[in-house]
Amino acid sequence: MLAPEVEGRPWREQLALDDHHYREQIAYLFDRSTFYREKLFAAGFRSGERVGGLKDIVRLPFTEKAELRASVTPDNPIGSHLCVGRDEIVRIYSTSGTTGTPSFIPLTQRDLDNWVTASSRSYAASGVKSGERIVTTYNAGPFVAGAALASVDRIGLCHIPVGTGNTERLMTAIRLLKPEAAVLTPSYAAYLIEWAKERDFDLRASSITRVLVAGEPGGGEPAFRARLEEGWGARVTEALGIGDIGVSLWGECAEQNGMHLGARGFVHAELINPVTGLPVEMKDGATGELVLTHLQHRAAPLLRFRTRDHVEVWTSPCACGRTAPRIRCIGRTDDMLIVRGVNVFPSAIREVVSEFAPAVSGYILVKPTVPGVKQEPPLPVTIELAPGTEPTVELANRIRERIRHVLVFTALIELVAFGSLARSEYKSKLVQH
Ligand SMILES: [Zn+2]
Repeated sequence: MLAPEVEGRPWREQLALDDHHYREQIAYLFDRSTFYREKLFAAGFRSGERVGGLKDIVRLPFTEKAELRASVTPDNPIGSHLCVGRDEIVRIYSTSGTTGTPSFIPLTQRDLDNWVTASSRSYAASGVKSGERIVTTYNAGPFVAGAALASVDRIGLCHIPVGTGNTERLMTAIRLLKPEAAVLTPSYAAYLIEWAKERDFDLRASSITRVLVAGEPGGGEPAFRARLEEGWGARVTEALGIGDIGVSLWGECAEQNGMHLGARGFVHAELINPVTGLPVEMKDGATGELVLTHLQHRAAPLLRFRTRDHVEVWTSPCACGRTAPRIRCIGRTDDMLIVRGVNVFPSAIREVVSEFAPAVSGYILVKPTVPGVKQEPPLPVTIELAPGTEPTVELANRIRERIRHVLVFTALIELVAFGSLARSEYKSKLVQH
């Protein structure tokens, strides 16, 4: 652990500290945030005292991304949740907005420092140590991932940045510089296994012993993870960040049973039912949408931010000694389809299909028949076969039955030859819209 006194602190003590910071954060919002002053007033909270502590947080309204966007004006391109003056902001990241205009994420020096602290804990949880070499494949660019790269320095690793989509350079770096770890999206890690095979590059014999994946779900799906570990001959762990809240907030330890909250003390996590908005108790096996609240943020803090990430939670002790709760991302609430009343995540379909390895390649594409979330069965799913596997009605039937058994919906299975579905050097598309 980078900070054993923090990461091993009993969770009850952490919550007591968090409660103290939360009350200060709420007072700060009333003082500085036009957005939250108006929002909390409208919800009947006229002061920080009325809001109370963390145990009462469920009474407060959620914050949606769209509300933040709606508060943007020509005079204030960041939004009315901005709490500090121009001279206090040391960095401004942006997210790729669906509307064409990006949303901006400002940070004070302390905000940035806290981001890097949290991200360092999350990355170090994987087991990478000071003095080792790590090759990264993220472009800093305008995106918050740039702050994650700073955590590499904080841990004391030797950083070999190669950027996105530069496979030749990446593989040359692995071959010649012999890094112990690589940071990738799970899709890219999978793509590189095939790339190496085609070129007789023995990835399993390379210097890489740890593969850290982030950027999309997949690294924690047992079958998908097994495929990556087999192909790389390395241990695969994952990390997860939420642009508006912080980078690599969560990071998995070597026990591989979910990502610990590396941002403990900086961020409070809740679970809700995404349809009703009601709280879901954080306990082993609970699932729901992740809702996050800043506890010590200054530039543009957020309260009860709906992340749209659907996660499973564990709170039981972990053998690594870290006491923070753990999550695994099941999928984006935005990617969720509802097939005759049943919630279906494309990544969950991929996980079930991957059980049929080595007959399947692990690549799938869901093809909804009508626009929107609600679908009527059967839901078409195209499944790519492994090299040399012939499509048979028997295999299609077995996969359909398994999907019906585990995910409780009926799929229309189309089996296609190896290489038919698109590969990605960044993130995979699991749904054809
Ligand atoms: Zn652990």
